[in-house]
Amino acid sequence: MKAEILCVGTELLLGDIVNTNAAYIAKELANLGIDVYNQAVVGDNPDRLKESLEQAFQRNDIVVMTGGLGPTYDDLTKETVAQLFGKKMILHQESLERIERFFKYYNRVMTENNRKQAFMPEGATVFPNDNGTAPGLAVEKDGKIAILLPGPPREMIPMFSSSVAPYLQQFSGSTLYSSNIHLFGIGESQVETILREMMVSHRNPTIAPYAKEGEVRLRVTASAKTKEEAKEMVLPVVEQIRDILGKYIYGIDVGDLQTALVQKLTEKKKKVACAESCTGGYISKRLTEVPGASLVFDCGVCSYANEIKERVLGVSHETLAAHGAVSRETAMEMAQGVRLLSGADIGVSTTGIAGPGGGSEEKPVGLVYVGVSAPSSCEAFELHLSRGYREEREYIRYLAASHALYQCLKALENL
Ligand code: ATP
Repeated sequence: MKAEILCVGTELLLGDIVNTNAAYIAKELANLGIDVYNQAVVGDNPDRLKESLEQAFQRNDIVVMTGGLGPTYDDLTKETVAQLFGKKMILHQESLERIERFFKYYNRVMTENNRKQAFMPEGATVFPNDNGTAPGLAVEKDGKIAILLPGPPREMIPMFSSSVAPYLQQFSGSTLYSSNIHLFGIGESQVETILREMMVSHRNPTIAPYAKEGEVRLRVTASAKTKEEAKEMVLPVVEQIRDILGKYIYGIDVGDLQTALVQKLTEKKKKVACAESCTGGYISKRLTEVPGASLVFDCGVCSYANEIKERVLGVSHETLAAHGAVSRETAMEMAQGVRLLSGADIGVSTTGIAGPGGGSEEKPVGLVYVGVSAPSSCEAFELHLSRGYREEREYIRYLAASHALYQCLKALENL
């Protein structure tokens, strides 16, 4: 089956919002083994919507649409599809009752135009909306399928995973299963060089690298009749890659560094604390993005000024005077200081020069020290994170935080 994604909304055309729905749906369709051949965006205009739909169905079998299912007069996606497929609009009682319940629950007045959302093209498969009023739907005619979903991602995404994916499964000859291998401390080109032969020779499963700010993700994807079969095909390839690149792998299917760290800390019943200078709270922010972080993270100190490094973290005046704030020695004392202050098992610190100013020949922009203190060890890692661009302050700060998270994972191995 060939599919097209058609997103409806003038806001999208004007660039007021980013088309995250298309990205989400494209990924999900790929996971279902349905090929997406085209993506399109059209404004809230019935003639142009009809034209786009006709074009989409000329070249593809399935068209997945988002937007234009609202109650107002310019929400015309459903009506346009019904017209194109020659279907009458009829009241879908169950949807009407759901909409009525929704308004009652939120204590809001239901207006007459909300009833419009309960009208469906005859014979449609209706997807209930647990987070809003507009139900989704699928309509079929002569082997062509239109799938209509609400625009707001918080309504569309749960609807897709709970109703649309199971509906689409029947049209997909195969299922895909992917595993993501997360690497840190190695560049994408190096990964490609090491794995080139494997990447070229493996067609099923495929191996695809994705690079993002200091990290590489290798996605291993197999296509098979069932998910279990595809998984069986993926596992040995993941193991093969683990044998080759094991020392760079910080997790399999873990999402990101902070999630991997929170998971490992939780597993080991350990806590981390951080003392941040150049990262200004980035480590704390990333850690607390992860649900459940409160079990493993009590305290982060943003110690930008030397006085705070001394007074709060106990960094010695002599160390600061002799080596400066950006130094291996200060990083270690900061890490140890915050570990003792918080009672955590691991203390991690960053101190460095994020630029664009403040660098010198001896201590250039991009020089960062990450300190890691554990009960029986304390070390610091010197990093050179500048790529030589002017606009890289954010990059340096982000990457320094990534290194700190990674070093905590490493330190945990010995705890
Ligand atoms: P509603 O019931 O809210 O009227 P709708 O199905 O008519 O929903 P739209 O009115 O087209 O959808 O969009 C509502 C909101 O959903 C937009 O303002 C935007 O915030 C979000 N949205 C719509 N389409 C997309 C998209 N393709 N990607 C990301 N967000 C989107």
